[in-house]
Parts: sequence; C-alpha cells; structure tokens
Amino acid sequence: MSADEILSSVSHVSDETEFYTPLPAGYAKGRTKYVVTFGTVMSGLGKGIFSSSLAKILQDKGLKVAPIKLEGYLNRDSGTLNPFRHGEVFVLDDGMECDMDLGTYERMLDQDLTRLNFSTSGQIFATVIEKERKGLYLGRDVQMIPHVTGEVKYRLRELAVASRADVVFVEIGGTVGDVENAYYIEAVREMAYEEGAENFCFVALTYVIEPQSLGEQKSKAAQINLKLLNAAGIQPHIIACRAHRPVAQKAREKLALYANVPMNRVFSMHDCESIYLIPEMLHGAGIDQAVLDILHVQPLVDEQREEQARRTWNGYIGKFRGAAHPITVGIIGKYTTVRDSYASIIQALEHAGTQSNARVQMEWVDSSELTASNVADRLMHIHSVIVPGGFGFRGVDGKLECIEYVRMSGVPYLGICYGMQMAVIEFARNVLGLKYAGTTELDRDCADPVIDLLPEQKRIEGLGGNMRLGGFDVVLKPESLIHRLCGGQDHIRLRFRHRYEVNPAYIERLEAAGMIFSGKAPHHPIMQVLELPERLHPFFLATQAHPELTGRPLNPSPFFLGLVRASLKRSGIEPPPFPAKPAEPLLRSESRSASANAGNLGGSPANLVDA
Ligand code: GLN
Repeated sequence: MSADEILSSVSHVSDETEFYTPLPAGYAKGRTKYVVTFGTVMSGLGKGIFSSSLAKILQDKGLKVAPIKLEGYLNRDSGTLNPFRHGEVFVLDDGMECDMDLGTYERMLDQDLTRLNFSTSGQIFATVIEKERKGLYLGRDVQMIPHVTGEVKYRLRELAVASRADVVFVEIGGTVGDVENAYYIEAVREMAYEEGAENFCFVALTYVIEPQSLGEQKSKAAQINLKLLNAAGIQPHIIACRAHRPVAQKAREKLALYANVPMNRVFSMHDCESIYLIPEMLHGAGIDQAVLDILHVQPLVDEQREEQARRTWNGYIGKFRGAAHPITVGIIGKYTTVRDSYASIIQALEHAGTQSNARVQMEWVDSSELTASNVADRLMHIHSVIVPGGFGFRGVDGKLECIEYVRMSGVPYLGICYGMQMAVIEFARNVLGLKYAGTTELDRDCADPVIDLLPEQKRIEGLGGNMRLGGFDVVLKPESLIHRLCGGQDHIRLRFRHRYEVNPAYIERLEAAGMIFSGKAPHHPIMQVLELPERLHPFFLATQAHPELTGRPLNPSPFFLGLVRASLKRSGIEPPPFPAKPAEPLLRSESRSASANAGNLGGSPANLVDA
C-alpha cells in the first residue's frame, strides 16, 4: 500500500494520524452493540459460561449474537498449551485451536464459530509487529495506544461486520488488574467512547466470599476489585455476583453503593447443577431485560420466538433433571485429576444421557495404573468405556489392556482419536497376531506400523507443518452402526486434531479379520471411523475425530448417544426409542465459517509429546 492509500484508509479523527485504522471496511457505527464481560477478584468464575448464557437468552429473543474471547497470553493459539494446566484444547471447524470456553459458546448458542471469535495477545502483537516490518506505520513509533489497542478495536468491529450480529459478546480473559489484559480493557474503554453510550454494556462478574468460619457472605474483596475497574475508566452497568449460595440482599446493597451500580442491576449468579440452567437463572433475575434497556434493543425482541425457544430449552432441563437410570462410564485417560481437560467429553455424555433418560456417572481411571492382572477387577462394575485422545507414551500399555478386556468381554467401547489408534494396535496384536504392531509416534522403527504419519504429513514434514486440524467430511458406510446412529446420513462432518492415522498398508488384513472401517475421508485413504460387527461385539466404535467437540445439548453426538444407549442395555435397561433423525435444534447453526476449510494442515509448531 502506498502512503496515500494508507492515508485515505485511515478514518481516525485527528490530522496528526498515527497510520492505523480501527475501522474495517463496511463497518457502520451503531449497527452492532457490544456486551463486555470482565472478571474481578479471581479467575475461574465462569466468565465464558456467563457470557454465553447471556448471549443465548438474547439469541432466543431473536437477536443475532456473536461471541469473542480475548485471551491475554502470548501464544498464537491454544495448540501448545498443556491441557493439564489449561483445560482441553477446543478445535473449531476452520482448524483454530482455542480455549475451552469456545466450546461453551458453541454448545450454548448452537453455532459453529471461527477464528474471528478467538483472539490472543500473541495474535494481536504479531499483527502489529508484521505491519511495523512492512513499514505500514510510516515512521511513527509503534505504541500500545493507539496501535495495539487499535488492533483490538479492529478485531471486535471485524467480527461485527463479518457476523452481522446485533450484539457482539466480548469476554476478556483473566482478571481486572492483570498486566496481560490491561490493554484489552483500555481498548474497550476507548471503543465505548467512540461507539456511544447506547451501544456498550459493561458487565463485571465478581465473587462474593463466604468463609466457612463466618458462615456469612463478605463483599469487601468484590468492592475493592470493582474499584480497579473504575480506575481503568470503566463504570460497569451490571454486576453479576458469583457465590456458592444466592447472594444476600445485604451484600448486594453494599456492592451497589460502593460500585455505583443501581441495586436492581446487581444480580446473584450462584452455583447450580448444570451450566444449562444458567440462562434461565439470568432470565429469572432480569439480567436480559437490563441489557435490552441499556442497549435500547427492545424493538428487536420477538416474543413468540422467545417463548418457543425457552420451552425447548426448558424441555432439555426437565429431561436432564428427570433422567432416571444411572449408568457408569469409565474414562480411561491420563489427566484424570483435572476434569477440565475432558470438558467436552463430560458435556457430550450429559447431552446423550439427557436424551436417553440416563444419569451418567463418570469414573476416572488413570490408564497408567491398569495392568493385565487388575483390569477386570477395576472395570467390572462399569457399563462402558471411553479411551479419549492423547499423545505420547504414558498410560499406553494400560489403554491396550483395557481395550483387550472390553473387546473380549463385550463391554461397550468408544475410542476417540488416540483411542481409535489404540483399538487398531490392540486388534492387530491380538487378532492378527502381529505381536509388534504399534504406532510410529512411539517407535519410529516399529516392525508393524499399523498407525503411521499421514501421507500429507509426510510430504510436508520438516516444513513446520503439523497436525490435521479442524472439520472434515466423513463418508459413512451404508448399514453400518455409525450410519444407523446418524439416522442414515451418508456424510457427516467431524473435527480432527491428529498427526498419525491408520496405515493403509494394513487395512485389507484388518478388514479380513472383521474390523469394519465405516467412515472414510471422501478423497483420501484416511480411515476416520471403525467398528466391530454385531456378531463380534455389541458396541465397539472408534473414530479418528473428536466427536465430543460437536455434540450439542439439543443435538447430541451420535457417537455418545450410541455409547449411552449401549451402556443402558448393559445395565439391563431398554433405551428409549431411537430418535428417527437427529433432533432438530431450534436454531440451525448459522455461522459455519465462510472459510470452513477443505482441510488444514498446520497449527502450532510445537511437538506435542506427552505434555
Ligand atoms: N497422538 C495421536 C496423533 O497425533 C492422537 C492425537 C489425539 O488423540 N488427539 O495422531
């Protein structure tokens, strides 16, 4: 771009231009409103759950919503993060590896999100530095304000343009007072000024402490931390108080007075048994009405639609509460002490259980503790088993013992990604008699590499390419178990995050011994779903994908639905009639990314080994 072109594209007010624009093409001020959620006092308050629940109630009213999470860390994406410390890596259809909160947004809103819905400081700074190297700032010193904050404002407005949302929901990661997110807070402060009072709503999520020794709720920490927000130039419109029990009037009164927020806009958001109860809790408290009033968007509300949406959602809640039959699913993993690393699996089981009238209990089994001599005892009372995704050596022997046991004893099995690869290795060793069958992930010189690097991967190896990431189509084999579970659909779309796959050289032998590859990539010999026929096993299903990422409350993943139904049978209960076709969610996913990929090979350059 020439200097003149840059100048003409700069829409900032001053003559003394800083050579940047916070306004993307096509942006119309006032067309989109913004709700920004901050966390105060501490992290882990459930900002994503809150923000997505609020977005959901507005969506139910007929408003078009789009969420975005602004992460403070310098990683470009979440691909290199250890799930043990940060929770699972959630993969979007376009291949973006992001924070688990994006999963909450997708499930609450029944929307497929894209990379526009997720930003990290790493991305923001990289963009600014790239522009600097290209000379686009024309001799100016590049500064946090306006260049970096300008980039943040650009991102938010870019999402507004691309999504054509009525309301963009911004979640700022971390806690007010952190160094990492201070420039995000400054950016939204500036943006609220630029957009005008009617177009911005600031919500402070805070925490009201209840020390056991006092048995009383204390609001001091919340008061002090809310002042930090004021110090950053932001006056919240709404305060939502997280607490174990409903927040008492007295604590709310104090917060109202000290934080300068009317009492009727200080709400309690206490713990409840499922996150899907929160939209109704927020509606009952009147937060939705407060937001409509602040943003002046009442005219956009379609009451009929809202009533229908709430009825459907409450139907789900009613079924969840009334689910009658307990079943126990064993999850044979590595990070069994940190539930967040399996967040989507837990959710997918809840959705499938709710639809099947089953109350799913999860039993976490550390695979590194399983051996040939204890596996039967350890799994005897379990109705089904999941071996989830993973990388590296730890616990692999235990997973193979577990799979051999469930295959031989007819316990329902769902293998996810590494869990599918392990199923192939177990089958090759114990059924085909290939004693040294294995994966080149663990042994490069393995005698029978039944799991090997992807052919595409081999081509780009050494060029920094990495994993097969994101959504891909899967062609299903007619009359197979998965074909039936998908209501007879011939194609489905699943999300992937893997580097290795079934070695095509062994497929014929595996099939001859009974293994069925019932889901394949349309144009490549990539085995994406496998199963055992009913004559060999009542329910043995595995996939190279991560079906837990695309399960939705009103439209559960067929893989999990199948597993839960097989678990019910194993516990002696006949499952309810199978839904004729997948339940129709109230809102069809509308935002499948325009850039929805035809395949991604890329992702973070780190080598994910036994994190
Ligand atoms: N480690 C295996 C691979 O890279 C499986 C990955 C996973 O389970 N997500 O292919």
